[in-house]
Amino acid sequence: MDFNLLSSTLESLNQPKYRLKQITDAYYSGHFKDWLAVTSLSLDLRQYLQSQFPLYSLSVEKTLTSSGTQKILFKTADDQYFESVLMQYPEWNTVCLSTQIGCPLNCAFCATGKMGFKRNLTAEEIVEQVILWKNQFPVDRLVFMGMGEPFLNYSNLKLAIETINTVLKIGSRKISVSTAGIIPQIKQFALDFPQINLAISLHAINQSTRLKIMPITQQYPLNELLDQAKNYVSLTRRQLFFEYALFEDINDSPQDIASLAKFIKSNYLFYLNLIPVNQVPNGLKASTKLTQIVNYLTQNQVDFSVRQSFGQEINSACGQLAYTTGKI
Ligand code: SF4
Repeated sequence: MDFNLLSSTLESLNQPKYRLKQITDAYYSGHFKDWLAVTSLSLDLRQYLQSQFPLYSLSVEKTLTSSGTQKILFKTADDQYFESVLMQYPEWNTVCLSTQIGCPLNCAFCATGKMGFKRNLTAEEIVEQVILWKNQFPVDRLVFMGMGEPFLNYSNLKLAIETINTVLKIGSRKISVSTAGIIPQIKQFALDFPQINLAISLHAINQSTRLKIMPITQQYPLNELLDQAKNYVSLTRRQLFFEYALFEDINDSPQDIASLAKFIKSNYLFYLNLIPVNQVPNGLKASTKLTQIVNYLTQNQVDFSVRQSFGQEINSACGQLAYTTGKI
């Protein structure tokens, strides 16, 4: 919502000063779908505001449900579409947020990348995803792993996290951000948000393989990314998560996994998340060696887990966001 416009509108209507706070509280509560539902305001005022501007800049176009997962297709004020997913664990709900419409990085395994890049989401649009999910479900944790590369939209990400922390009261330790490896922003993020969990989408442990899967490796080479990872943990003393999706005959050879194990064990704050791949059309093939790899990592005492995959039936699992828009 445009709070400056709201404030001047209320002033021109000779509304008392406390009205702005009343409306701000209603906006962030996530309990109202439009102005008419905010019954603490007079009917005249509600009708007037409803006719002037929308309560939220996003609208919920469609909600899809599968076991343990919900997906919302959001529509923006400029008629663009993007998605966000809610995963229901036994003890909490986690929302996976988007930061861009499409993505410019074009990772080989990712449906979002195949959409191309449309634009950055505003801080308001990022925060409204949380608010509009709260309208339907309790929201306990957030991961920035939806559409887009969060660190290519850093200033809006930063603003959104600050609002989420201070106004929506979701603490830093319950928030995770994942990056494909935008090196300068990793350092900035460590300084700005040392309490927020960071994950690096690694997916390969040598430069040539990673270049094939993630073109961003050309701009930010793997050795520099791994050095920055070491800097990150020495600066924050926080665990750093590495995401590694397993692709058949690309990054799942015994040599790849041995190098990966050696790297993860090189620092006690490094932690590996293995990701069984969700197949997307024309995407990379899932590895069939998960069991052998898990056995190897266990025998070699590597700190790791295998990421639970949610929502494949509604194309809401990792690397699948984009389908509902029908853009690919
Ligand atoms: S995996 Fe992430 S960074 Fe890569 S194209 Fe998809 S959304 Fe972009």
